[in-house]
Amino acid sequence: VERKTGVVSTMAGTKALLTLENFINGKFVPCSSYIDSYDPSTGEVYCRVPDSGNEEIEAAVEAARAAFPGWSARSPQERSQVLHRLADLLEKSLEDLAQAESRDQGKTITLARTMDIPRSVQNFRFFASSILHHTSECTHMDHEGCLHYTLRAPVGIAGLISPWNLPLYLLTWKVAPAIAAGNTVIAKPSELTSVTAWMMCKLLETAGVPPGVVNIVFGTGPKVGEALVSHPEVPLISFTGSQPTAERIAQLSAPHCKKLSLELGGKNPAIIFEDANLEECIPTTVRSSFANQGEICLCTSRIFVQKSIYSEFLKKFVAATRMWKVGIPSDPSASIGALISKAHLEKVRSYIKKARAEGARILCGEGVDTLSLPPKNQAGYFMLPTVITDIKDESCCMKEEIFGPVTCVVPFDSEEEVIQRANSVKYGLAATVWSSNVGRVHRVAKKLQSGLVWSNCWLIRELNLPFGGMKSSGIGREGAKDSYEFFTEVKTITIKH
Ligand code: NAD
Repeated sequence: VERKTGVVSTMAGTKALLTLENFINGKFVPCSSYIDSYDPSTGEVYCRVPDSGNEEIEAAVEAARAAFPGWSARSPQERSQVLHRLADLLEKSLEDLAQAESRDQGKTITLARTMDIPRSVQNFRFFASSILHHTSECTHMDHEGCLHYTLRAPVGIAGLISPWNLPLYLLTWKVAPAIAAGNTVIAKPSELTSVTAWMMCKLLETAGVPPGVVNIVFGTGPKVGEALVSHPEVPLISFTGSQPTAERIAQLSAPHCKKLSLELGGKNPAIIFEDANLEECIPTTVRSSFANQGEICLCTSRIFVQKSIYSEFLKKFVAATRMWKVGIPSDPSASIGALISKAHLEKVRSYIKKARAEGARILCGEGVDTLSLPPKNQAGYFMLPTVITDIKDESCCMKEEIFGPVTCVVPFDSEEEVIQRANSVKYGLAATVWSSNVGRVHRVAKKLQSGLVWSNCWLIRELNLPFGGMKSSGIGREGAKDSYEFFTEVKTITIKH
């Protein structure tokens, strides 16, 4: 039992469970009740997460309010140094954090090591640097004899709510710009994946983050999430998660006129023209469909292939999908780990049942191939990557976000037709276009209703540029300038001389 760092081991039956504590005002604080958290690779409870509510939010608000004047008065250079130190400390713990993320979320250790944790480190480094490069606007009007300029100030206490698919990656993508701009924060990670956020709390003091600047409160959305969103002293909510939750957050925020950033789901198309380089397109489209078990908001779930190459594509795509090994998360040769929860696995499987009932064909994966797992992982939430075809655009598998290792492949004839079909869903987050005709790529990219378009690649991110979706995929953008603008209030000052 290691008390000083907030680690508390309790005995439940014969097993020691990892028990997390809230982090408020620079201290680990136990909670009066806890939620069980499951290891997705075995289906067993291995961790207890605080079941926080109003009381914990009140304490966090008090701490964040008290810390705000001191933190916001620091220069960007001083705040930048703290962010750099935190990035260095996270990087030193990369392997421990990767192991923890992989166990808690079910993703492969390889992905946690090469994507989740390195990107979390990069989020702090990136905003530590970008905060030094913003300038304000200034104009002079001769005829009125006035000088106009703008000032930006941090908004206050930022409420940050993140999902379970990329736990530390998405949490730090919010914490870093919020504190770099001088806000204090109350973050609520997903109750399904809270461990790495709690591990990060152990590094804050050494990095020089003053007590109360970063508070992390654990628990469920309806309880502690709503307490945070409804609190009148939290003027800003940055949320990444599902569209129904965003609706609820928007309702709760409306009476307070809160600033909202909503990063939501997608039903992302890949459009593959006959002049695409299939040698690059096929492995990238397998990855864009199934990476992180298909649990990335940017994953491809509708693949439109031009008729002349449809059967060649399908054959090669299914063969390449079958090469993706489903394995236990700690297996370095696995490409796909376990899904997040039993409920989620059942939901994903229910879509395949519906597709089958509608007469669609399942070409590989669920119900077609056999998954072999070690005995101790038989109750884990594993599923084979699944390819569906002969499916109508109106089917729920082609309209709704499944958020699992399932993708649909359908043929198309013309450019105009495919643009219209790609745009026919309520979401508009990301799209990929495969063609060697540059003119066509520009034309199609311009007409797609999508916040992000990748051509001949997928998920290459330039953090300076805006990230976010249109239609039901969200409101607002995140990135160097966009996050800075969101986490600050602008003031225009006019001086007559
Ligand atoms: P979710 O909406 O169920 O939960 C997200 C977070 O909101 C969790 O922390 C949850 O506890 C909290 N929450 C739930 N109900 C709440 C409420 N009533 N009030 C306040 N907070 C509440 O989403 P999820 O299942 O964790 O994540 C998957 C979704 O996230 C998918 O739709 C996916 O596309 C989306 N996502 C979007 C992006 C993006 O950048 N656009 C990135 C990752 C995931």
